[in-house]
Amino acid sequence: MVKLNEHYLELKQSYLFAEIGRRVAAYAAEHPDAKIIRLGIGDVTRPLTPAVVEAMSKAVAEMGQAETFRGYGPEQGYDFLRNAIVDYYARNGVTIAADEVFVSDGAKSDTGNITDLFDPENKVLIPDPVYPVYVDTNTMNGRNIIYMDANAENNFLPMPDPDVDADIIYLCSPNNPTGATYNREQLKAWVDYANSKGAIILFDSAYEAFISDPELPRSIFAIEGARECAIEFCSLSKTAGFTGTRCGYTIVPTELERTSTTGVRQSVKAMWNRRQTTKFNGVSYIVQRGAAAAFSEQGMKEAQENIAYYKENARIIAEVFEKKSVRYFGGINSPYIWFECPKGMDAWTFFDYLLKEVNVVGTPGEGFGTNGTHFFRLTAFGTKEATIEAMKRIESIL
Ligand code: PLP
Repeated sequence: MVKLNEHYLELKQSYLFAEIGRRVAAYAAEHPDAKIIRLGIGDVTRPLTPAVVEAMSKAVAEMGQAETFRGYGPEQGYDFLRNAIVDYYARNGVTIAADEVFVSDGAKSDTGNITDLFDPENKVLIPDPVYPVYVDTNTMNGRNIIYMDANAENNFLPMPDPDVDADIIYLCSPNNPTGATYNREQLKAWVDYANSKGAIILFDSAYEAFISDPELPRSIFAIEGARECAIEFCSLSKTAGFTGTRCGYTIVPTELERTSTTGVRQSVKAMWNRRQTTKFNGVSYIVQRGAAAAFSEQGMKEAQENIAYYKENARIIAEVFEKKSVRYFGGINSPYIWFECPKGMDAWTFFDYLLKEVNVVGTPGEGFGTNGTHFFRLTAFGTKEATIEAMKRIESIL
């Protein structure tokens, strides 16, 4: 008789977006004329840029000709894309090597799949609130999770506690959902902590392209000592509008090694390579051509125009909160604005209030962790017109 992985039964029901959908649908059915604006979902709205479209169109044509047709590609990604990522990092002042870059179909898969490399006995340190995939994938493996509080007191940027022994540490900066972004000193403290414990940092930089403050690190590898203790996950989803096109990458530095219980020195990069070549067959050639174009100087210029568009939305949102003295976080180096629900409301009460009073939909913070119980997330990924209208309405009830 088959035995199931019963750790799946320990997962909290991921009811957040389903519940949002249910409440919005019920309201819309009762109020068919309501003009509902959705600023909840973290999906982009700007289309792929011309450089990406051109590169992908060319790649489609190549696939239709016998001379240029391609079958299976390298599981780690084509050299043209790995090199384009290396160049992009170099332009941001960070040196990595092409064989440390592993191209994938996105950061969600990689942040989940990386758990294959680690023993279930490891203690995992995860911020609360944060992108829920880290908690769920470790729960699936039956790992012991230690939560670290991210709250208004620490500006949603928890720092290491030397008395806590963690083996695996998840950091997400700029953060989803709070938009909080670690500075160099803070990340250095994390790197030093990880190196002192022999721990590994899993650093999710999916929103790095939203960082405009040149003092803030866009990669953990901008920090001395990180090559000995960190893995970085990134994605083209928010950088270049690839949420539907699908492409991301993971950087595993050559220096990252740990010793097995049998005393064998093991390269983590070699393990990830083995994992990927066994369980993954690479990203489509067409998508990788588009991704390489996104990382070119022209492609990044175009991507930054879309990012500027979203950041203007973030500014429009923040302006209203400034004016109304609502305590908020993020929105400067991030597409997310995380704010305290007014009048002491909890997040679901505020959700209903916002939906009913002004027909605006956002995301209740508790979907990202218990510290989000009185917080709410709005995203800057809507259209400018919708954002202006939504904030006019929200202002009227604050
Ligand atoms: N990491 C974070 C922090 C995210 O917020 C998201 C998407 O919302 C992802 C990773 C997933 O990225 P991808 O679309 O590349 O799977």
